[in-house]
Amino acid sequence: MTTIKDQLLLRLLERESEMLEFLRRLLQVPTPNPPGDTTAAMVLVSQFLSQRGIPHEIVEPNQGMPNLIAEFSCGRDGPRLILNGHLDVFPAGDLDKWSHDPWAAVQVGDCIYGRGACDMKSGTTALLFAFAELHAIRKHLRGSLVLTVVSDEETFGPWGARYLVEHRKEVLGDCLLSGEPTSPYALRFGEKGRLWVRIRVLTPGAHGAYVHLSRNPIALAADLIARLRSLEEIRSPVNTPVALALQNNAATIDKAYGHGASDIILSTTLNVGTIKGGVKINMVPTECEFEVDIRTPPGVPHLQVMERLREIVEIFPEAEFEVLHADAASTSPADHPMVRALIQNAKQLSNVKPKPIIALGGCDARLWRYAGIPAFVYGPSPTGMGTADEFVRVDEFLHVAKTQTLAAFDYLSG
Ligand SMILES: [Zn+2]
Repeated sequence: MTTIKDQLLLRLLERESEMLEFLRRLLQVPTPNPPGDTTAAMVLVSQFLSQRGIPHEIVEPNQGMPNLIAEFSCGRDGPRLILNGHLDVFPAGDLDKWSHDPWAAVQVGDCIYGRGACDMKSGTTALLFAFAELHAIRKHLRGSLVLTVVSDEETFGPWGARYLVEHRKEVLGDCLLSGEPTSPYALRFGEKGRLWVRIRVLTPGAHGAYVHLSRNPIALAADLIARLRSLEEIRSPVNTPVALALQNNAATIDKAYGHGASDIILSTTLNVGTIKGGVKINMVPTECEFEVDIRTPPGVPHLQVMERLREIVEIFPEAEFEVLHADAASTSPADHPMVRALIQNAKQLSNVKPKPIIALGGCDARLWRYAGIPAFVYGPSPTGMGTADEFVRVDEFLHVAKTQTLAAFDYLSG
């Protein structure tokens, strides 16, 4: 006897070519951010839902950056699950570096090329189909399911998920599932924090031969940067559940993010992203300014890092700093039922057992964690993410779509 879940999987198998077709159409609509206009892509999503008779609402606090909310309640009481994907993508960058037009969705063998292929139009497509298929069998489920398809993700903007979380309480719930790229063998239950700082060193300046009249701000900046490296000694507390989970999955972390990632995942890291100063070789400059991208691991509050940063900057009376952005690290329980559901279904479908890890970078899922809602990410590999020749493997895309749908089914079946 076939179960409802068996029938759901069968329907997903029947829909594979439809999913691929929708993904390719979505990739053919350019949505680079900046400027982040997703209007035409949102029309495709809206039409998809309308054709299936699924009500939805467009929320557009900033013209050209629409967000979509759809939801349905099942017959019985139960948890509220949110599926979230974004439509904006990185800019294509230097077109000469691409082997294929980034907006053509060219398929070569098992790979579909295009900006947004892995980040995250494939994940968004997968969640859209998951939502529609679960809507069709909603009388067999319990609780409720919400779909949010958003704009303004790639630049951490205020008009997408952040707007919805702050203004539309129906997008909150008991658990969030995102399809941002992870790779089939990894799922994410958290991410590191981000602290962006600008530091300016100001001196009187002088003629280049009169160095006795002014300290050199570039030399001071170099000294300051060297001292800032001590921030990297601030690490996550040991023996917490998060630290232990990550230590056990070091090999997966290196596989997902490159060799060495497992060494820094529990450390504060520092990247001086820009520096400018000086006008002419024979002048002592009056100013040097640089920007630092600090990433903080779970369990390290920004206050702790800021305190150390302030102590270092105060060594230099000519220096001042300002915080440009601050997003705390966020984690959800690594043994949550959604984690178990993703692992079990991935294993059954493709014989891969995803390991729970956290992200080095950030995505919208953090916004739900900040609101106290456990949030998890499972998507295809980040192949070419943010660079030329971004692509998604067809088998990974279909695997993710099925895994997400079946995991959401399990979650809503209790
Ligand atoms: Zn993304």
